[in-house]
Amino acid sequence: MTEETLSFQAEVSRLLDIVANALYSQDEVFLRELVSNASDACDRLRYAAISEPHLLGEDPELAIEIAPDKEAATLTVADNGIGMNREELIENLGTIARSGTAAFVQALGEKKGEVEQIGQFGVGFYAAFMVADKVEVLTRKAGDEQGWHWVSDGKGSFTVGEAGSGESAEAPARGTRIVLHLKADKREYLEPHRLRHVVKTYSDHIAVPVRLREGGKDPETLNSAGALWTRPKSEITDEQYQEFYHHVAHAADEPWARLHFKAEGTIEYSGLLFVPGARPFDLFDPQRKSRVKLYVKRVFITDDCEGLVPSYLRFLRGIVDSEDLPLNISREMVQHHPVLQKIRQAVTKRVIGELEAKAEKDGEGYETFWENFGAVLKEGLYEADGQREALLKLARFRSTAVEGWTSLADYVGRMKPGQKAIFTIAGDDAEKLKRSPQLEGFRAKGVEVLLLTDPVDEFWPNAVHAFEDKPFRSVTRGGAELDEIEAEATEGEDKKDEAKEPEAGPETATLLAFLKQTLDGKVKDVRLSQRLTESAVCLVADEGDLDLHLAKLLKQHQQ
Ligand code: ADP
Ligand code: MG
Repeated sequence: MTEETLSFQAEVSRLLDIVANALYSQDEVFLRELVSNASDACDRLRYAAISEPHLLGEDPELAIEIAPDKEAATLTVADNGIGMNREELIENLGTIARSGTAAFVQALGEKKGEVEQIGQFGVGFYAAFMVADKVEVLTRKAGDEQGWHWVSDGKGSFTVGEAGSGESAEAPARGTRIVLHLKADKREYLEPHRLRHVVKTYSDHIAVPVRLREGGKDPETLNSAGALWTRPKSEITDEQYQEFYHHVAHAADEPWARLHFKAEGTIEYSGLLFVPGARPFDLFDPQRKSRVKLYVKRVFITDDCEGLVPSYLRFLRGIVDSEDLPLNISREMVQHHPVLQKIRQAVTKRVIGELEAKAEKDGEGYETFWENFGAVLKEGLYEADGQREALLKLARFRSTAVEGWTSLADYVGRMKPGQKAIFTIAGDDAEKLKRSPQLEGFRAKGVEVLLLTDPVDEFWPNAVHAFEDKPFRSVTRGGAELDEIEAEATEGEDKKDEAKEPEAGPETATLLAFLKQTLDGKVKDVRLSQRLTESAVCLVADEGDLDLHLAKLLKQHQQ
């Protein structure tokens, strides 16, 4: 096949334009991104070689090599990993819209994003154009005969052709070689001390060796090389943990919590997990089941393993490495393996334990965590996996009685004499809810109501029923147990009598009959109410009927 020129997908062109032309002090992250891709490529080859050992052939030692060439003013980053065939090359490096492309362009445009975050959006490769005005990719997929040559100046199009034919250089025997023709003002990346420093800063944790090859000298290994999670905690610095997090999570923030553990016993596994400090842009992407990478005996298996952690912990990032799962397990089978289920239970407990500890130690940080991920964690409340009690303790709520967040335990501590239930009201907006007429009777009696504003709040109260024997009760239900609660500042003897449903006098009875007739078919009943102190009317749901907000939601979705 001859050479072919193709256009970048439109968003990619926009991105390249921004990335290549702006001035960034943080352009050194290009190397982190290329090394990260090279490391992923080695992981993927190692996995493929479990079932097809011949792929490793005579070159079983996987490594990454960085080679500056001062005369040509090029910097080469090479790996002997999985490589790419022609289709993959075209799709991955230019034509297929990657979900993060538009999001990254937007974040940069709104000045909300920094260019260092490029890897987070799944478009790290393009960071090469921050330092190069021409990029060449020479690649040969493991097991393939033909190698391919990709060239672009980042201005709208790229060319793909057979490597080794015509003017083209040869592709590596296996894997990918990326040649950066450095811009005149980026020649610092030809200096060994600069490269050493950048690799040490961002890529020290990379599990395969990252080597510097200078002229005729012997290659020098720049990183610690070796899976970070296998090292003793005492030998790992915070910076190393953080860079590892950036690599596995494709994130640029500082993680809020870290769990590094090793379990030995009936099942053996280790893990290095993080709770992000900021909400990832694709947290609610329904396609992704989990972002925790599964390894078996240091070999990467998959980064999308359903069932490794429950979906209500899908904000977790990091790795779990099992000693007991069979290495040759397929990605499809692994989720049903009993060992995986045991790991999930144990890891879930650890994470919940850590969250409990963090809630104690770092209340403020916990609130930020809750704002980022509370809506996800609450999904666990209706997933009967034995963690419901613990999750209820971790849950935080907005309420009519406090400014910030409250726990259920604190709510229960503030309950009024005679109050048996935890009262809730559901809607989209906490401020609007606070002004709801349905709350008037509660306010008059000083009874606190929790404001439920996440979509998931429509579902869990039906499954959970109670916290510490106190049932959850929506205020929009007809028989709200408000009557049994003593009014806060009411003086006098006959409180009980007052609290009864008021008797309708003859005039009121006529009005009620009129309203019932007029609204026939639209409402089930019209009743005189105790609950309102200021407003004339409010809608309530009958005991056993759907909660009002839920009924409205379902109607919107034509259910
Ligand atoms: P991400 O790494 O988040 O997927 P990138 O923009 O860094 O996004 O890379 C895009 C894709 O290009 C990768 O997912 C991978 O499929 C492919 N790729 C990039 N570099 C290499 C490489 N060295 N070897 C094999 N494939 C690569
Ligand atoms: Mg990448």
